[in-house]
Amino acid sequence: MELINGNEIAATIVAELKEEVSLLQGKKPCITFIRVGDDPASVSYVNKKNKIAAEIGMTPKLEQFPLDVSKEELFAKIDELNADPSVHGILIQAPLPSHIDAVETFRRVDPGKDVDGFHTVNIGKICQEDETGFVACTPAGIMELLSRSNVSLDGKHVVVLGRSLIVGKPVALLAMQRQSWANATVTVCHSRTTDLPSITRQADVLIAAIGKPEFVTKDMVKPGVVVIDVGINRVADSSRKSGYRLTGDVNFAEVSPLASKITPVPGGVGPMTVAMLMKNTLKAFKLAQA
Ligand code: NDP
Repeated sequence: MELINGNEIAATIVAELKEEVSLLQGKKPCITFIRVGDDPASVSYVNKKNKIAAEIGMTPKLEQFPLDVSKEELFAKIDELNADPSVHGILIQAPLPSHIDAVETFRRVDPGKDVDGFHTVNIGKICQEDETGFVACTPAGIMELLSRSNVSLDGKHVVVLGRSLIVGKPVALLAMQRQSWANATVTVCHSRTTDLPSITRQADVLIAAIGKPEFVTKDMVKPGVVVIDVGINRVADSSRKSGYRLTGDVNFAEVSPLASKITPVPGGVGPMTVAMLMKNTLKAFKLAQA
């Protein structure tokens, strides 16, 4: 079994971006984060993204709003950032409060600044295999992890667990592209799928993104499978100072002896998501200069 080290691969991408940004004359890419409320996980995610953007030499900015911000006020800020030529990328940190519709908010962002890749236009561009679009960061990170770990998807059966807009759907669309780095046969499973283990056992590559701790067990995979565990779940653990530990959607102890390659949690897909956000921001900057 080979561990796919997301920390290492993400650090390589960050170093590549840093080098590229250092060669830019004059203006630097600017990413603006919008955070609503003080959810500790959101604060920590935005801080992490902010730190990496600064480390690469980009200009990170933060716009904060209280949880009871009105849709009108939030959208006015998005409109202002859309119109500001010094802002190249806009990221709206999820989750948003329930009175603000997330998809409507993603659609408000200028597709050319939508570095999160959730705008309808950018999702459509994945379907059309139009590379001028922005691919959502987690699915893009998964594809990058696979290609940098020399996993070919060509002709393989990729099984995706989960059909969310953020992970499951876009990663399935990417894996089936008519491209040398894709060309997979893809099956997408969800909570209404019957006899899920009989499908997951067919997977050459299994991508688990359902948000259920240690859901995938040894009886659900075939020997030699490549496993990408997207799940980030907090599980109570009194032996930890924090009172919890992070675990994926895959039972690592059971599945890793059967897998040819597998990502750990943490240290697998998570760091890649941030690295790909920075890659998208540099792309947005370049498109704005063209
Ligand atoms: P969502 O909750 O949006 O989607 C979960 C999907 O899993 C749904 O399609 C749901 O089916 C399906 N599902 C739920 N239970 C089952 C089940 N028992 N059997 C089969 N399918 C099931 O989650 P996300 O896609 O946003 O996130 C998934 C996981 O990935 C979470 O742990 C999240 O924290 C993590 N994540 C990690 C990221 C990273 O950077 N590493 C980034 C984003 C997410 P249905 O559609 O029928 O409800």
